[in-house]
Amino acid sequence: MSDCIFCKIATGAIPSNKVYEDEDVIVFHDLHPVAPVHVLVVPKTHIESLAHAEVEHQALLGKLMLVGARVADQLGLQKGFRTVINTGAGGGQTVFHLHLHVIGGPGLPSGIL
Ligand code: ADP
Repeated sequence: MSDCIFCKIATGAIPSNKVYEDEDVIVFHDLHPVAPVHVLVVPKTHIESLAHAEVEHQALLGKLMLVGARVADQLGLQKGFRTVINTGAGGGQTVFHLHLHVIGGPGLPSGIL
């Protein structure tokens, strides 16, 4: 998707504060962090949202979770962290390229979300 900001970050056309990258995913710090640690785990393949994921994306979806957990450990979140996927405008999604938020660190409010 030529007009997708996360596709542009994935190709390096737009810079990001990157913490991890491999052939399938890229992880970078969120521009507007809501916690001391806030990174986004983004598949390089353009998938609009979780609602648009297909069976062929099953392994990739699992990889987002595993990479998120590894990066959380790498960033010092041994006490725990939160993962969030906003889906669709009604779910709070504002960038329509599937991504997993990983947030954590001191001051993270407890709660169901
Ligand atoms: P929300 O804005 O409600 O968190 P999303 O779940 O779609 O909706 O999250 C998009 C996230 O992408 C936001 O946290 C936003 O700060 C972040 N973001 C947008 N543009 C960039 C960018 N160029 N680099 C890093 N993070 C970005």
